[in-house]
Amino acid sequence: MTRSYKRLMWSPRLGLRKPLMWLLKPRWKQSGTRVVCLHEIDDTKLFYKKMVWLKSNYNIIKMDDLTDLEFNAPRVGHNVVLTFDDCFASWKTNAITILKAMEIPATFFIPSGRITRTDRTAADVEMFRVTTRNLRRAIIGPSLTQQEVQSIANDLLFTIGSHTIHHVDVRDCRFKTDYDAEICGDREYLRHLTGQWIRYFAFPYGMPKNCPWSATLYCMKLGFKKVFSTIPGWVGQEYVIGRDCLSIEDPEWYWKARLGGSYDWLYRRLHK
Ligand SMILES: [Zn+2]
Repeated sequence: MTRSYKRLMWSPRLGLRKPLMWLLKPRWKQSGTRVVCLHEIDDTKLFYKKMVWLKSNYNIIKMDDLTDLEFNAPRVGHNVVLTFDDCFASWKTNAITILKAMEIPATFFIPSGRITRTDRTAADVEMFRVTTRNLRRAIIGPSLTQQEVQSIANDLLFTIGSHTIHHVDVRDCRFKTDYDAEICGDREYLRHLTGQWIRYFAFPYGMPKNCPWSATLYCMKLGFKKVFSTIPGWVGQEYVIGRDCLSIEDPEWYWKARLGGSYDWLYRRLHK
């Protein structure tokens, strides 16, 4: 087995999904709507390159257009909604300027415990520590300040969404008061900070086990327009919308395969 073939069969980030994706190529769909989920953006050049590719191959639409689409004429073309999770300062330094220059709309799901407060109290510092630990990442960059979140919210291209205060796995919320504190509390904090009604919520972690029905029902009653998981899938009439978790380091063919839906069936089998 040659080295290059070995590399094709196994890459540290993509694992065995890579060759499987090639086998599935004929199944790729060319139309419909998908939602992309990104996290930290630590390379401006790579981000720019990916956005150029994305914009030239897909219609990038606003979150509100996605939720309004279901009431309008049947969708045409291949639409993509861009979302970012977890309140990274690198959005401001590496992504926002590019998104503005290219007029690409995006939604930012923010766990409010990660926002750097002015005049921090000891309680704020502890909240930040717990939230950051709950991201479950080996290396975590700094987070956005209150002013930076406000400036993102004030841009018409962008939408702010809720992501619980402490980035909790909502399965651990046993009582309604826990939902009130984490889900409603986060929404209210972001509403006061931005002066805007927060209409979207993303489940932290977002896998099937992290999106219990009781929490979905709670979000529905609270008035969220739509909620988001990280279960890949096409956007339909459902209240819980799936997303493709991608990285700007992933190659374009991988993005294309994921946005064509070729990973959906495999994900369902892996997470039954
Ligand atoms: Zn998250």
